[in-house]
Amino acid sequence: MPQYQTKVETDVIVIGYGAAGGTCALTAARHGAGVLLLEKAPEPGGNSLVSSAMMIYPKQVEQKEQFVEYLHQVTHGTTPRVLVQTFVDGLLQNPQWFQDLGGELEVYDYKLSDPSLSYYIPDKTFSQLPAARNLNLELRRLKQTDSVPERTGGARVWNLINRNVRAQDNIEVMTGTAVVEIVKNDLGQAIGVIAEHAGERFFCKARKGVVMTCGGFEYDPELKTQYLRPQEIQASGWPHNTGDGVRLAQKVGAQLWHMDAEASAIGIRPEGWEAGFVLTVRRPGFIYVDSDGDRFVNEARLEAHNAGASIGEFNLPTYKFSRLPSFLIMDEENGRGAPLAMDIFSYNVVVKGYKWSADNSAEIAKGWIMVAHDMAELSRITGIEQSALANTLGGYNAQARAGVDRAFGRPPETLKPIDPPYYVAKILPLMYNTQGGPRRDEHARVLDPDGKPIPHLFAAGECGSIWGFKYQTSTNFSETIVYGRIAGTNAANLPAIENFNSPQLR
Ligand SMILES: Cc1cc2nc3c(=O)[nH]c(=O)nc-3n(C[C@H](O)[C@H](O)[C@H](O)COP(=O)(O)OP(=O)(O)OC[C@H]3O[C@@H](n4cnc5c(N)ncnc54)[C@H](O)[C@@H]3O)c2cc1C
Repeated sequence: MPQYQTKVETDVIVIGYGAAGGTCALTAARHGAGVLLLEKAPEPGGNSLVSSAMMIYPKQVEQKEQFVEYLHQVTHGTTPRVLVQTFVDGLLQNPQWFQDLGGELEVYDYKLSDPSLSYYIPDKTFSQLPAARNLNLELRRLKQTDSVPERTGGARVWNLINRNVRAQDNIEVMTGTAVVEIVKNDLGQAIGVIAEHAGERFFCKARKGVVMTCGGFEYDPELKTQYLRPQEIQASGWPHNTGDGVRLAQKVGAQLWHMDAEASAIGIRPEGWEAGFVLTVRRPGFIYVDSDGDRFVNEARLEAHNAGASIGEFNLPTYKFSRLPSFLIMDEENGRGAPLAMDIFSYNVVVKGYKWSADNSAEIAKGWIMVAHDMAELSRITGIEQSALANTLGGYNAQARAGVDRAFGRPPETLKPIDPPYYVAKILPLMYNTQGGPRRDEHARVLDPDGKPIPHLFAAGECGSIWGFKYQTSTNFSETIVYGRIAGTNAANLPAIENFNSPQLR
């Protein structure tokens, strides 16, 4: 077994510097702990930096318990209620926490600021659940001010957190430093990590606790294949989220959970781009067809975070993913009239600085959106039989003219015939994030397969999120803050470890 030299000693080690890591570090530091924040990427930020950071709230605080019940029903038995309750308790403390950092939450009504997004985000994702009845929810986000002027919500929050972290002199941040192993002593307590920086591996000692905030596995092809669906599922976020947390957790005997849960939209990933672009069609003249040319869904009511799943469905009778690829076919009003991509978030927008053209002309010129002047050309572009396309478009157009979508019940105001030229994009399920990772309890402690805490090991955020099964929109970001705070508090308040015996240490 290789042995490592100790390079740094501190109280709490936090693995991964996104919102969960930053919140955890800040909280632990404010409880008097020395903190080492290790980030694999050259610059920190994670999915948090490129996120919209919308946060869903019950409109009236009196509906708190109903909201807990609703979220618990959404998890469908995959998460003990106490973790949901803890989340909602913390959610209600988040506004004060933001205020203490120098920020302020505001209500965000997307229907006022951009009505076309009604194709995109209903507040209450699963209104059919019993607990959803009469439950009033609203979206909140960090208000844009002179001190947080960024356009993207996540960038605002992350920069606010980062400023506070940098002002705290008991937090050391090391970037370009990947944690490759969590080290336990002979009592099974987490006593630190093996980290790698510039090709050198060394031990970082944690006297009180180790916290895993290293995100999900959106960019790990093998984990995606095993736990989600084939690799066609791509992502819009941070490319350094490659599932390290899953492997680190397995190596120290943690229980995994929620490995098959994710939140995904519909998008495109052009050749040569690591991350994809989330699409949003803003006008009525459009449909999605599968690789056989059939429509398969009410296109106008696909909730963003569950939309990807509808494309990823496996077709047992044909034994193929018949919706991979699918195609978006739209009219000129959509093709030239409004930007097809969401231009407020994602890795490409925030980190790469990509500016999508207002009339899609640049993307049409690049071939990301293709133009077909007739059915024959549409067939050539998509590889779908012309007769199948003619049948589907003919059927849809007739129903649109009649104002009744008999096939999928699309509301009349969202129906409009699609006439040539056709604008076409090859679409994919595009993840915001995965949810799986080490299982935690309500104290953010990582559990072993028997449900016992692994001493001195914690997790927060997307690395083993509490959201299993389906996803209520805009709950991931708040979770990073709530459980980041809990993990930071609990790690900092542990008694210091005295035994650092491990065969891995010199
Ligand atoms: C485009 C987009 C929009 C979104 N919009 C919303 C929204 O509006 N509302 C909402 O609730 N959620 C949203 N989400 C989801 C939400 O933003 C994320 O789930 C959340 O930010 C995750 O935060 P985190 O701190 O857990 O992980 P991250 O912010 O991803 O941070 C993890 C960090 O760990 C680092 N890391 C990984 N491995 C290692 C290692 N071995 N050693 C050291 N460091 C490591 C990574 O580089 C990364 O910096 C969105 C996500 C995306 C991509």
